[in-house]
Amino acid sequence: MKVIILGAGTIGICTAWHLLERGHEVTVVERQDAAALETSFANGAQISVSYCEPWANRAAPLKALKWMLSKEAPLLFRPQAPWGEGLHQYRWALQFLAQCNDAAFERNVQQLVALGAYSHAALKEMVAATGIAYHRLERGIAHYYCDQQSLDAAGAAAGLMRRFGVNRQVVSRDEFLELEPAYRSFAHRIVGGTFTPSDESGDCRVFTQALADRCAARGAEMLYGHQVLQLSAGQGAMKSVAVGAISTGAQGQKTSKNTVSGMPPVTRTLQADHVVVACGSYSAPLLRSVGVDLPIYPGKGYSATLKILHPDRAPVVSAIDDARKIALSRLGDELRVAGTIEIGGYDLQLNTPLARARCEMLTRRVEEVLPGVCDTRSEDRGGSPRYWCGLRPATPTNIPYIGQSPVRGIWVNAGHGTLGWTHAAGSGKALAALMHGDRPELDFRFYGAPA
Ligand SMILES: Cc1cc2nc3c(=O)[nH]c(=O)nc-3n(C[C@H](O)[C@H](O)[C@H](O)COP(=O)(O)OP(=O)(O)OC[C@H]3O[C@@H](n4cnc5c(N)ncnc54)[C@H](O)[C@@H]3O)c2cc1C
Repeated sequence: MKVIILGAGTIGICTAWHLLERGHEVTVVERQDAAALETSFANGAQISVSYCEPWANRAAPLKALKWMLSKEAPLLFRPQAPWGEGLHQYRWALQFLAQCNDAAFERNVQQLVALGAYSHAALKEMVAATGIAYHRLERGIAHYYCDQQSLDAAGAAAGLMRRFGVNRQVVSRDEFLELEPAYRSFAHRIVGGTFTPSDESGDCRVFTQALADRCAARGAEMLYGHQVLQLSAGQGAMKSVAVGAISTGAQGQKTSKNTVSGMPPVTRTLQADHVVVACGSYSAPLLRSVGVDLPIYPGKGYSATLKILHPDRAPVVSAIDDARKIALSRLGDELRVAGTIEIGGYDLQLNTPLARARCEMLTRRVEEVLPGVCDTRSEDRGGSPRYWCGLRPATPTNIPYIGQSPVRGIWVNAGHGTLGWTHAAGSGKALAALMHGDRPELDFRFYGAPA
């Protein structure tokens, strides 16, 4: 069958790969000039099957309320005007609140662990088949805590994970430092940690771009620099996809990016048996245009990529700093520090006072926990931190939509929130199986499948 995939993030490209594996004809449409240039570009790099607790939990509403006054808050709700796009934010927030209880939390964790384990196996298969190198470190993920109350709560979370078959161990401060001695000079602040030996880390952008090249080499048509302008449906079925080539002006400016204004004209109308919507946070408005309403809302996060000055003192075990809710992952001779989530629309600015404060918090924290290890100087002091932000396609449950929409021929692979890199390989494999008429081997509620 002929399939058009909308979006060349890690989800779209993994879907393309698995459809090609099953012998299907694939066209990928992407507005950027290459794969993985939006949310899949500079994330926390963790393949984190075992640290998959959704943001929605019993304690989240009160914490979020308190954090609304802090620029550096791990989770920041920035209310929009309650109409137009803003209306979707309020609806999303209400659905998120409905997930903030123990029963929903457990249900969501079970689904995330199931998809994570399936996806980890799929990633290993893909790496073995392609030989892609992407600064992969199979050294586990360690989580450190700076207060006893959080460590006690982590013990309960680790117990829940173990019930679902995940080997997450609680470790003492000394055990943590034995696993990753790089944090020795911060030892006085650490009260303990948890560790999952089977988790890993690696560069999502490098992997996705290399996989996209392999998809092209296997015959996939890669329409980079093309904006999806309209998804057409009629009588409950998909009809066509109108796309426009994005041209570059004399000053290098593009005719279109993420905004409705300045859209390019339609240059091609594509037809196929099936379409897969894998446009990350932009999947929601696109799907609404054909009457499919899914609660996928952008959750802005930030990262900083820093040059390592002392490789022998830099960590190799990917870590999570619980107090700041940030991930620290080594990618070759650089350290990636990433995290925080802001629910405040499609804003991708890095140069506002709020964005600057959140970026600087990341580098400041690296200096605190790994003093002198990386070049954390700001640009004006001769440093070269590469700051970045991206919009996680967040759902209230953190569980993605993988499956067939009510419009025949339109499939969805979107809403991967905080775990899109972890779940990409498996989401692509599972959707390709469903489209082929097979039932993927995991206990997961696929979108559109009978309960
Ligand atoms: C700070 C941060 C840290 C993170 N850390 C981790 C981590 O450690 N581990 C983990 O598993 N996950 C992590 N994530 C989450 C992960 O990065 C995302 O879930 C994942 O990248 C989403 O992939 P995607 O393919 O759905 O979206 P994207 O990568 O955004 O891809 C969607 C693509 O669709 C294209 N597109 C959209 N609309 C159109 C249109 N109209 N026409 C043409 N093209 C279009 C976009 O250009 C884009 O390339 C993190 C995210 C952030 C922001």
